[in-house]
Amino acid sequence: LYNFCAGPAALPTPVLQRAQEELLDYHGRGLSVMEMSHRSADFTAIAEAAEATLRELLAIPDNYRVLFLQGGASSQFAMVPYNLLGRGGTPNYLYTGIWGKKAIAEARHVAGAHIAASSEDNGLREVPRPEAIALSSDAAYLHYTDNETIGGLAFDYIPEVEVPLVCDMSSSILSAPLDVSRFGVIYAGAQKNIGPAGLTLVIVRDDLLDRARPDTPTMFNYRVMAEHGSMYNTPPTYAWYLAGLVFDWLKQDIGGLEAMDAINARKAETLYGAIDASGFYSNPIAPRNRSRMNVPFVLADDALNGDFLREAETAGLLNLKGHRSVGGMRASLYNAVPEAAVEALVDFMADFERRHG
Ligand code: PLP
Repeated sequence: LYNFCAGPAALPTPVLQRAQEELLDYHGRGLSVMEMSHRSADFTAIAEAAEATLRELLAIPDNYRVLFLQGGASSQFAMVPYNLLGRGGTPNYLYTGIWGKKAIAEARHVAGAHIAASSEDNGLREVPRPEAIALSSDAAYLHYTDNETIGGLAFDYIPEVEVPLVCDMSSSILSAPLDVSRFGVIYAGAQKNIGPAGLTLVIVRDDLLDRARPDTPTMFNYRVMAEHGSMYNTPPTYAWYLAGLVFDWLKQDIGGLEAMDAINARKAETLYGAIDASGFYSNPIAPRNRSRMNVPFVLADDALNGDFLREAETAGLLNLKGHRSVGGMRASLYNAVPEAAVEALVDFMADFERRHG
């Protein structure tokens, strides 16, 4: 079976196998990782190793802190303004889709928001060009969503601005190498390319740790979490451990992010190539902004959607239904989706088109 779910997404099979082997008895301790104190030497080693491998994969500079939090990327929509507005100013946002809209709504609860550029005029099909970005004169930071998971719309550049750049990378992190030094804050819910749901990764430049508003709740405060090694309270220990196994897999089995990037490029090319070559399937996104992680597509006749999904499932191709807000289909091609899955999908699509097109 191949799982194209947008999240929680497929995990690499070798990771699940290793977790299974270690589930009841972690390294002869007679305990599951789930049952260990987060302050124990064993869990401390697991936590530190996960961070070290992540730092190596992303080449995270020393002046950045890595936080392993809870609350999902959605909590970051509020945590970002709380943590970055202590010196005043206006949050600035690029609007390119549904997740960015939610982040903007949350910033408005805290402090208001200025939309520095938007894809609304083009129906969320193209990311604003760099020259269209117009910050407010008092911008405190600029936030954008690198990859809009529902629309399948991805940035093809990193904005260059004088204020701290904040990025929601929930559905694109670890899919390719990244220049972390361009960012003030990067955050991601884990349940796509990192590990199971329940863990939220935040990478924050350390000079931004003294900008929290005084009314920032303790559990929302990056500095508090950084000073406590993300263990101010009980962290999501098992998800953290599994994320560490995923980082090991990326490093050892895949060979790092350049190798992952090449695999992801081939997967996306295969699927978009099949869509573009057919008169039956289509994808609405401007080619330069097509997401490599989430590929939405529609059939020439909506009435065939039910048949497509039923037959796909019978063929072992799971979770291809598009998000309820946009309809159609969506194939998520995160890191753990193998190239063979994409080959199987395009074969199925061609066969379906032959029979129904
Ligand atoms: N941001 C993006 C780009 C997402 O894709 C998602 C979830 O799919 C979220 C934020 C929300 O994440 P969470 O469910 O972890 O709050």
